[in-house]
Amino acid sequence: MQLTQTIPYVEDRIAKSCVRSGRDRNEVHIIAVTKYVSLETTGQVLKQGLHHIGENRWQDAQAKWEAFGDQGTWHFIGHLQTNKVKDVLGKFAYIHSLDRLSLAKELDKKAGAMGIKAQCFIQLNVSGEETKYGLPPEELDSFVQAIRGMENIHIVGLMTMAPYEAEPEATRPVFRRLRELRDEMNRVRALGYEVPHLSMGMSNDFEVAIEEGATWVRLGSVLVGKE
Ligand SMILES: *Cc1c(COP(=O)(O)O)cnc(C)c1O
Repeated sequence: MQLTQTIPYVEDRIAKSCVRSGRDRNEVHIIAVTKYVSLETTGQVLKQGLHHIGENRWQDAQAKWEAFGDQGTWHFIGHLQTNKVKDVLGKFAYIHSLDRLSLAKELDKKAGAMGIKAQCFIQLNVSGEETKYGLPPEELDSFVQAIRGMENIHIVGLMTMAPYEAEPEATRPVFRRLRELRDEMNRVRALGYEVPHLSMGMSNDFEVAIEEGATWVRLGSVLVGKE
């Protein structure tokens, strides 16, 4: 399928999810995940008006960023090695995969040196799958305490990946739990400021994620395709 078809198709499904759950369509933002496609297709994505681009590896993203970096807002959605922080910081506006203290320390240090704030989502492994990255939810409180004083990191939300389920409805408890964790952080003002966002929902399960409160959905195959 062409972007001119997938964009309205995905839009329609998002709109319906918002109606079903009584949400405002403007609360839900789309990240077009271009990790499966070429430089040329990434250019087409931007031309079609999708301005939030998601990539999960700097090695694969570099050429795309060098070609189109100023045409969109870039989201780093993959596991981030500490030694890659220097490559992505300042280029990617959001890091969706803050999942450990050593990474927080490096982000804080490098962002401070650059005179910027690293805007991050804390990635949680809600499902407990061993193959998934992310902080175990029971470690969230102590993690937040540890990063609270890091002045060059700003937490904008929580992120998770649900297991692949043949029946997407089965992912609902994972997304609901992430929302509850965010709401609890805000209730006790864990960071001293509001954490508004939930980065959750991919091609297979974005409708359920939206119904459970997603503010950013990360869409690859259903929207951008695979080449
Ligand atoms: C690849 C990827 C996506 C998009 O995957 P699709 O299922 O193709 O939509 C979303 N989030 C993360 C973290 C990814 O690595």
